[in-house]
Amino acid sequence: MKSIEPFIRDINDFPKPGIVFKDLTPLLNSPEGTDLCLQELLKQIDGAKVDKVVGMEARGFFFGTLIAKALGVGFIPVRKPGKLPYNTISETYALEYGSDVLEIHEDAISPGDRVLIHDDVLATGGTAAAVCKLVERLGGKIVQCNFIMELEFLRGSEKLKPNHVASVLKY
Ligand code: 5GP
Repeated sequence: MKSIEPFIRDINDFPKPGIVFKDLTPLLNSPEGTDLCLQELLKQIDGAKVDKVVGMEARGFFFGTLIAKALGVGFIPVRKPGKLPYNTISETYALEYGSDVLEIHEDAISPGDRVLIHDDVLATGGTAAAVCKLVERLGGKIVQCNFIMELEFLRGSEKLKPNHVASVLKY
């Protein structure tokens, strides 16, 4: 079976010394890799009913919109502060040093909407956990947290419990 693994490259010491960054630009630069990745992401949704796909800035936008289009549902961007033009709600989350904030439009989700959350990489889980909170505050029901890659040794999926986590590749 074909794998997306050859399309992901490791970049040492990015963005900081000691970090091995999983770079998906070769995947985006290949129509074959992009198609393969999309099929794998759709497979892990396994026919579950989804009303909205939420993707986080910025690498969650690439496949988040493709997944939404393939499912025939809307895509909702979650962005860094001050980027979304309409009324927003925001969630602050902890980083290794300091904190960060994510925002979503207040009218993007209707209560009871079944929401798929997508990002490229699950690392410590802080980003995805903040997005789960935003979706839940708007009354959305999380169907799955869906990733291309999961860095299992960082145990991010524990932060997302009891939500279901699915990833195409695990490291
Ligand atoms: P977390 O909040 O789970 O620690 O970090 C996940 C966020 O950081 C995601 O939005 C993801 O795009 C980014 N990220 C962390 N590590 C990597 C990596 O190795 N490769 C890529 N492409 N993104 C990463």
